[in-house]
Amino acid sequence: MRDVSVWREMLGLSDAVVEDVELEPERGAIVAHVRVRKGAALRCSRCRRKSPRYDRGEGRRRWRHLDAGTLRVFIEADVPRVRCRACGVNVIYIPWARAGAGHSVDFDRQVAYLATRTSKSAVVELIRIAWRTVGTIPARYRQDVEDCYDRYDGLRRIGIDEIAYKKGRKYLTVVVDHDTGRLVWAGTGRESATLEEFFEILGPARAGEIILVSADAARYIAQAVKKHLPNAVQCADPFHVIAWATDALDQVRREAWNTAKGRASNTQLTRERSHGPSRALKNTRLALWKNPEDLTEQQHAKIEWIAKTDPRLYRAYLLKEGLRYVFKVKGTKGREALDRWLAWAARCRIPAFIDVARRIKTVRASIDAALKHHLSNALIESVNTKIRLITRLAFGFADPEALIALALLSLGGYKPTLPGRT
Ligand SMILES: [Zn+2]
Repeated sequence: MRDVSVWREMLGLSDAVVEDVELEPERGAIVAHVRVRKGAALRCSRCRRKSPRYDRGEGRRRWRHLDAGTLRVFIEADVPRVRCRACGVNVIYIPWARAGAGHSVDFDRQVAYLATRTSKSAVVELIRIAWRTVGTIPARYRQDVEDCYDRYDGLRRIGIDEIAYKKGRKYLTVVVDHDTGRLVWAGTGRESATLEEFFEILGPARAGEIILVSADAARYIAQAVKKHLPNAVQCADPFHVIAWATDALDQVRREAWNTAKGRASNTQLTRERSHGPSRALKNTRLALWKNPEDLTEQQHAKIEWIAKTDPRLYRAYLLKEGLRYVFKVKGTKGREALDRWLAWAARCRIPAFIDVARRIKTVRASIDAALKHHLSNALIESVNTKIRLITRLAFGFADPEALIALALLSLGGYKPTLPGRT
């Protein structure tokens, strides 16, 4: 343990001198006693200004550092205080740790890296810290990223969406950048006040540069956007509009299934046979939802079976596909296709689709804008998929801020890298 230069390299601490290393076998730990390099001036931890020493502070402090083999590593050092001209009396700036943190910067970085890439249980087991502690680290790491980059710079086309978590009991409002695919911002709740937070951070100058906003048809979003983003065209999010049709189709399918079941029990056929048509219908959900180009041969056969046996359900299927076509062709062709679709839906005699047509008419302007601006839902959808994944990963976080920090780190374009790698 005498060759401290090996230890200094191994610990990877800049501006630190390793004075001693001791083993604490009963704790399975190594403690490295270090001090800030002599030549390095004492600096205020708040503003990093060179400052004269004030006192010893609270004596020695310990930080958890990256493991060495199977052992935990702790760094121990004195943390004296300085008298800063600007901030008053403060602890000194420690190059390997943030003020107030119990872990080194490298340790935080490794945890942030893992938290954005692997499961909760893997992180907890590998790193040997509580999940609650893991939750605080992305927020700290994110602050560093925020200090280096302006995430709100150059935003032109954004999407605003709501995401349910905690089994639909809680919501996040998220803002994505359509041009980069990045998650720009996330806040808790789904109301005007949530969005106001975002507009406040954005400020009027950058708000004026936003030319396009896609959102679902929630009225509060439309009103807030109108108020704060004066130059933005509001587009309906194609994904949400198609989802209306998918929901309507699902309703028709359930009705068909119930009818088949009722018919079967009325005629009192044997159990085996009576469940034939209703069971067959029950298994059609996936085939009906999928895009025709993604159907398997078996699912194709199912759709053909529906066409023969249940014209009403088949009509509902074609209506759903028709609406998808509108957003596929986009532009003037898409607008014309939507006119035809609305006329078709109006006389389809299926209440669920008549209702979809009514909803489309109320937000027609924003749908036309989406068709005109060729807004793709693929980006919004891919970010949503990733966020849903994170909500699953992060279900143990009691604090939504921890979830938001993790989501922004993973999807904000500045994913953490491992310490000591170039
Ligand atoms: Zn200071």
